[in-house]
Amino acid sequence: MHPTHPTAVLLASLLPSPVFSTTPKHHPSSFHPSAIITRDVAIIGGGSSGTHAAITLKDANKSVIVVEIKNRLGGHTETYKDPATGLAQDYGVQVYHNESTVLDYFARFDIPLGQPQYAGNDANYDFSTGLAVNVSAPSVQDLGAGLQKYAAFLAQFPKLESGMFLPDPVPEDLTMPFGDLVAKVGLEALVQMMFSTNQGIGDILSVPVVENARVNGLGLVQQLAANSLVATARRNNSELYGKAQAELLDADSLLLSSEVVRSVRRESGVELVVKTPDGVKLVRAKKLLVTIPPRVDLLARFDLRRQEREVFGKLIDVGYYAALVKNTGTPDDLVIYNRAPDTPYNLAALPGVYTMGPTAIPGVKAIYYGSQWSNATYPLSDDFVKGEMIAGIKRLQTANADKFEATEPEFVVFTSHAPFYTQAGPEDIYAGIYDEMNALQGVRSTYWSGATFRAQDSSALWKFNKEIVLPMLMEGL
Ligand SMILES: Cc1cc2nc3c(=O)[nH]c(=O)nc-3n(C[C@H](O)[C@H](O)[C@H](O)COP(=O)(O)OP(=O)(O)OC[C@H]3O[C@@H](n4cnc5c(N)ncnc54)[C@H](O)[C@@H]3O)c2cc1C
Repeated sequence: MHPTHPTAVLLASLLPSPVFSTTPKHHPSSFHPSAIITRDVAIIGGGSSGTHAAITLKDANKSVIVVEIKNRLGGHTETYKDPATGLAQDYGVQVYHNESTVLDYFARFDIPLGQPQYAGNDANYDFSTGLAVNVSAPSVQDLGAGLQKYAAFLAQFPKLESGMFLPDPVPEDLTMPFGDLVAKVGLEALVQMMFSTNQGIGDILSVPVVENARVNGLGLVQQLAANSLVATARRNNSELYGKAQAELLDADSLLLSSEVVRSVRRESGVELVVKTPDGVKLVRAKKLLVTIPPRVDLLARFDLRRQEREVFGKLIDVGYYAALVKNTGTPDDLVIYNRAPDTPYNLAALPGVYTMGPTAIPGVKAIYYGSQWSNATYPLSDDFVKGEMIAGIKRLQTANADKFEATEPEFVVFTSHAPFYTQAGPEDIYAGIYDEMNALQGVRSTYWSGATFRAQDSSALWKFNKEIVLPMLMEGL
């Protein structure tokens, strides 16, 4: 086999890097012209931020190629279509901020928005024992007063609404545990709500204030106070990604089920060897936008330099898991919060279930589960989480035989969203990790978007793309 034959290049690119470095480097001349894709921008990951970036760049007449490892766009956005009823149910991303970036994006795809539907009766149970827990919910007045105090606190740091742009030096108010801020500012009424609005963050009372504020930030607080969040009227957030997918495929701008196996990143542009279902392609792009979680293991094929390894190596993350389950034995309209009888604010211990609540599909409930922080990319195994979900439901049934039926719960769908909420610890935040991460923007033609650089919040990510990342990236294109 000739060393420059495409198959040789594929084999070489699949070998671990020490071996690869002794083999001939891939060169554009080793790829058949039909296997070379030349674009203004290559985007890694076609979830919330990658898809938004691709569509925005396409609308600005820039050529793009999205490399997505799965066979569909959407990332954490997932929608189940019930074959029996035809009903759609989102069990990933649910709601959005009512603001122009969001409204314009959905309008572009002609997808109607409406009010989120929260129908259901609330109940509090301890999934670890199955027993009901007495929880006193804060009054509407206390919630409103808490939101005002928190908004006044956040207003001191307006740049946080644009990204992880922290003052230098980083004030202790931003690195202290969120639980300490609660006591200092008087935010007790907000804790249970924020535990729900920021699922998958880890232990919310210990998390640095600024990490909680990524999602529970001024933007969301204002939306909550005004009760103005929006959702897709057809309860099908995947419709946006389906339409974007069709459009990008039509424009030869999307490689699904594809993965970068080797890269060279230079100031003059990037070259990516991409394994696709149609063979190995060479992508040449002026700029690269990476939107996948920047875990060092996930970026192994991206030609990371020492500085990038060091910064990303400090990040921790969380396991967050979502499922639709039938035969739970609980009434369809019951929203069950997992509460503990003896913890501050009755917050459930993690790892554990957050909630199990109604869906549009009769007999099917949505259940969400979270881990504690971890250095591991995948903190818990899927089998462990599935087992814990089912065991929790069975405990509810056993302890409440008068209310719930003893049935055998069955998974309709299950998804691990790990690694989720990739974040930094207080010492690293104080030492300036977010300045270091922001300083990576543009280095060796590479730009970074996605939740780690902004928030696990699609509205915030689209604004981040529009206002911060894409203007930088488009300069000189
Ligand atoms: C259950 C759940 C509910 C949520 N609810 C809401 C909500 O109501 N409102 C809200 O605003 N936000 C919500 N979020 C948060 C929202 O999902 C995130 O804010 C958003 O999806 C993050 O976007 P992203 O682009 O960073 O990552 P993702 O959307 O995860 O996109 C990353 C993409 O990269 C792909 N990928 C990974 N590795 C590779 C690789 N090596 N090569 C190529 N592609 C790769 C993935 O398959 C994925 O498609 C929710 C999240 C979850 C999990």
